[in-house]
Amino acid sequence: MSWFIQAAYFTAAVLFIFGLKQMSSPVTARRGIIWAGAGMVLATLVTFVHPQVHANYLLMILAIGIGGGLAWWSGKRVAMTDMPQMIALYNGMGGGAAAAIAAVELVKGEEMEFVVLALAVLGALIGTVAFSGSAIAFGKLQGLIRKAFRYSGQQKVNLVLFSVTVLLGLIMVISGQANPVILTIFFILALVIGVLMTLPIGGADMPVVISLYNALTGLAVGFEGFVLQNPAMMIAGIVVGSAGTLLTQLMAKAMNRPISNVLFSNFGESGGEGQGEVQGALKPIEASDAGVMMAFADKVIIVPGYGMAVAQAQHKIWELTQLLQDRGVTVKFAIHPVAGRMPGHMNVLLAEAGVPYDIIYDLDEINSEFPTADVALVIGANDVVNPDARNNPDSPIYGMPILNVDQAKNVIVIKRGKGAGFSGIENPLFYADNTRMLYGDGQEMASALISAIKEL
Ligand code: NDP
Repeated sequence: MSWFIQAAYFTAAVLFIFGLKQMSSPVTARRGIIWAGAGMVLATLVTFVHPQVHANYLLMILAIGIGGGLAWWSGKRVAMTDMPQMIALYNGMGGGAAAAIAAVELVKGEEMEFVVLALAVLGALIGTVAFSGSAIAFGKLQGLIRKAFRYSGQQKVNLVLFSVTVLLGLIMVISGQANPVILTIFFILALVIGVLMTLPIGGADMPVVISLYNALTGLAVGFEGFVLQNPAMMIAGIVVGSAGTLLTQLMAKAMNRPISNVLFSNFGESGGEGQGEVQGALKPIEASDAGVMMAFADKVIIVPGYGMAVAQAQHKIWELTQLLQDRGVTVKFAIHPVAGRMPGHMNVLLAEAGVPYDIIYDLDEINSEFPTADVALVIGANDVVNPDARNNPDSPIYGMPILNVDQAKNVIVIKRGKGAGFSGIENPLFYADNTRMLYGDGQEMASALISAIKEL
């Protein structure tokens, strides 16, 4: 490989890592995406002068044009609430691409070193499972697959299928060649495993599953990069694999659920079993009264959740915040790590509305401040403020870290009705003595609060 290509791959790898580093803060994340994207463009362009590439230039340009064009078009149109399924789709493509590379290399029938052949087969298995699993995750989140698919002994069947697939892979590796019949059955079984593994998982657990498949895709790409002896692919794969693993762990930790529980437990389908009777009554409040409470408060903490994303209320909430700040009220935002349906969901929405980062706080930073807040305004959040996670050992979400909203002097909750959160369970916060319910769509209620405060 010429020094020029080596240097270009090295630069691309540096750009990926630099971009990823910048993505760790909302302040620099947008720039990080551009740097990493530039690295990807560089790595793609270099392929055209790579010594192993001699033909099919037209096909390459066509593929880049169609893929890039579709991604540009769909990326511009996708709603923030649909982002998880778009990531599932793109991630699935990555896994599929890694598997396709493995298929081409294995079908060639050229002699491969033992390690290279083993990595090609392993990458093929992981990439194919990530491909079909991500496709099912997309279907579930998009509402195309609504029915839960379960039968007794399901996990045993999956285990048998998985063992047979691994055995076929081993046969190929030990025999030193990929028999076309074995290879075909191997790929079909891997596709089926991805489908069967993902179908029984509850639709709302999909973001964690997608993150897990994302990590697997990275691993598959890294392995196939080794097969092709392509350093940019290896580094990109390793970076995606480790970032995906960390993200999956972060989501599982923030929910206090091991990955095995996400994959095998049918979470949120218990119908709220084991949580006991909720004490108290729901006490509604008018926007005008809620507006007065907030306008005359010293300190207000706003807690956004999934409902704010559904209502697209972030701009109105920022307008409300500015009105309160003009009146001398201290306003802070409290963000739970799994508020919404993907990590950083709330941060992205608030950033889009122009909320400055220095008034946005993480769970650990703000939790001790709730007792000093005159009003905690909860907009479309439910599970992430459920005190049962702290107080009720029988609750399905017991142990999940939550925002201690119930400790504020007054709590105002904006939601449309009695709709449960993602976990499907009751929330005693809504029945507490210091809580008032402001029923309605998030955006409409934020507007009503703005009008109420302006009239004072
Ligand atoms: P929840 O899903 O618990 O609750 C959302 C609430 O918003 C509902 O109770 C609903 O009540 C209300 N709502 C819906 N639409 C509107 C609207 N238009 N206006 C006002 N309110 C609305 O959200 P949280 O953010 O509190 O919790 C996130 C949950 O998702 C957690 O359980 C977390 O574990 C899970 N999760 C998060 C992931 C992540 O990475 N962020 C990944 C996977 C799961 P009503 O219908 O009455 O309006």
